[in-house]
Amino acid sequence: MSNQDLLKRSQQAVWHPCTQMKSHEQFPLIPIARGDGVWLYDAAGKRYLDAVSSWWVNLFGHNNSRIKEAIKQQLDTLEHVMLAGFTHQPVVELSEKLSQLTGLGHAFYASDGASAVEVALKMSFHYWHNKNRPRKSFFACLHGSYHGETLGALSVTDVAIFKDTYAPLLMQSAQMPSPDWRLAEAGESAQAFALRCAEALEQYVSEHQHELAAFIIEPLVQCATGMSMYHPVYLRRAREICNKYQVHLIVDEIAVGFGRTGTMFAGEQAEIKADFICLSKGITGGYLPLSVVLTKDEIYQAFYDDKVAKGFLHSHSYTGNPLACSAALATLAIFESDDILQKNMQKSDLIQTKMQVLNDFPIQHLRHQGMIFAFDIMTKNQQFSKRFYQAALKQGVLLRPIGNTVYFMPPYTITEGEIDFMLQATVKALQETT
Ligand SMILES: *Cc1c(COP(=O)(O)O)cnc(C)c1O
Repeated sequence: MSNQDLLKRSQQAVWHPCTQMKSHEQFPLIPIARGDGVWLYDAAGKRYLDAVSSWWVNLFGHNNSRIKEAIKQQLDTLEHVMLAGFTHQPVVELSEKLSQLTGLGHAFYASDGASAVEVALKMSFHYWHNKNRPRKSFFACLHGSYHGETLGALSVTDVAIFKDTYAPLLMQSAQMPSPDWRLAEAGESAQAFALRCAEALEQYVSEHQHELAAFIIEPLVQCATGMSMYHPVYLRRAREICNKYQVHLIVDEIAVGFGRTGTMFAGEQAEIKADFICLSKGITGGYLPLSVVLTKDEIYQAFYDDKVAKGFLHSHSYTGNPLACSAALATLAIFESDDILQKNMQKSDLIQTKMQVLNDFPIQHLRHQGMIFAFDIMTKNQQFSKRFYQAALKQGVLLRPIGNTVYFMPPYTITEGEIDFMLQATVKALQETT
């Protein structure tokens, strides 16, 4: 099938996500035929370096032989079985591994990030209900938070363009000041600013402790609203505050889990223990949809009862799919056998050093956290994001700025030569757009 043909048919038949479809009259879709390592190849053979890991899911490159092999083996054994009333080896092994890694047992599975957030919100509310505190039915989140697009997750998301249209359908939630250090006052350290934001959080939580079920947070980096980074002391204080006023802390590691911020999970850098952890995106190395909510024994026990209705009667058809679990197990095995976190530390330093070439451009807030790198362009051009995306594609790199923030979230397998390519392409795209 020719490129042109595929584009036309896709526009007719496929409703693409997060897209005003009319924009494709101007900006054509990119038909991808295959992937290999950090590269995506279109039907004509042109290649693009996937510098955003295909929306942050692809940890170890496309066409990864080990993950592929694990799925193939599982495919010959058991492709799927419902998880209500049945179990299987991959889901048990994965749950045990995730419990070892996070200190939280009791893995409840779903298929996408947003559905994991739904699970965590419902579980938190239901816990308080089971504990005879049904008034605790309200959630708090951060300014600029992103937790997904289903109605519950969107209710604790703070992005006007995604949310405003649906306002009549959503639950009320409260937005706490974001500790994003770019918002600190001149001369104020990231840590001092985080502590100041935590004071505001405590003020709010203390006043609403009887209605608040949980505070949901993206640990260390608010990715979707422009890679806002903050000091880990905020997480530590949030944990203390939630303990003090009996409010659950839901830690949404969907974007940052699995090594993105330098540690396996971002919460480790604040030495906190969450009440709920949500995981998805990188969990299968980008191979299959899978998400999971992990929670602690005390919460699990509040549902464990002779009464059916006290149980958590939530399900998705593909809950705990064996193929997805086998991909996740292979992903975790690569972390262990290849010493990924250690190697990423060196790679992170290397990328950071090489990013200094960007200082010749009108940029600010050059920042990084582990394998997330970002900077903001000083421009008033409303079209910057679209123009830069196009310019980078022309240079053979897939980059999707968020507003004026350009970021790299490459697969961990990126080589030094590929890093150079990514940065040279970025320089050329900046020359064209700034
Ligand atoms: C992407 C994301 C989600 C939603 O995950 P989906 O799989 O897209 O539904 C939730 N929380 C965070 C922090 C995310 O980055």
